[in-house]
Amino acid sequence: MKYIRFEKEGTIRYGILEGTMIKELDQSYITGKAKETSVSYSLSEVTVLAPVNPAQVLCIGLNYELHAKEQGKPLPEEPMMFMVSPSAVIGDGDDFELAKPEHRIDYEAELAVVIGKEAKNLTRENALSHVFGYTCGNDVSDRDFQKKDKQYTRAKSFAGYKPLGPVIETELNPNDVEVKLTLNGKVRQQSRTTDLIHDVEEILVKATEVMTLQPGDVILTGTPEGVGPLSPGDRIEVEIEGIGKLTNTVRP
Ligand code: MG
Repeated sequence: MKYIRFEKEGTIRYGILEGTMIKELDQSYITGKAKETSVSYSLSEVTVLAPVNPAQVLCIGLNYELHAKEQGKPLPEEPMMFMVSPSAVIGDGDDFELAKPEHRIDYEAELAVVIGKEAKNLTRENALSHVFGYTCGNDVSDRDFQKKDKQYTRAKSFAGYKPLGPVIETELNPNDVEVKLTLNGKVRQQSRTTDLIHDVEEILVKATEVMTLQPGDVILTGTPEGVGPLSPGDRIEVEIEGIGKLTNTVRP
């Protein structure tokens, strides 16, 4: 099932996407209580929003071996966690500005996990049953601030630096899908989540040893190799098998 959050006539609405038709729901799908209404829309007549409005955005760094190598970093023994501001989240079709255009600012295609049930002290066995679904993410990163700060909050929390969407897919094996990023029509990242150093269950177990995750919280699972810099006017497409394509542009 593909869930979509959208705006129509000034109201934020929720629906199920079937092809190019949206069946409206009576409330947010994240509640787990949403029911279909008799209202439907064509995708072309609504404004797509980020599929979720998270209270927490947890990111995992260096979770693909070839990306850790290209960054010149050793492989982390455990999932390397950091938080970024939810105010950085934008949706499919939104553009964003390079806040410090004189810095090197990279794209990072990532599988994003959306939590569905309050999660604390999960086990490998029950971890995925606390997930609502999966979406495409782009962990846009200011490398100059990453180096200067030696941690990532400022580098990754500018407005627009966390595109998510376009939909949340609930039926997906998160540990075996292709993750691809295209920059101005050229493929720059192409890998599979089978290459994750720490898989989704492991991330959920280790994260919830520490923190309680709530429905709607998002985890970005790390980016594969092939990261590179963005310039004004760039068009970025993150495509994850089974989910869809998240398209954003850098404001010229
Ligand atoms: Mg990342």
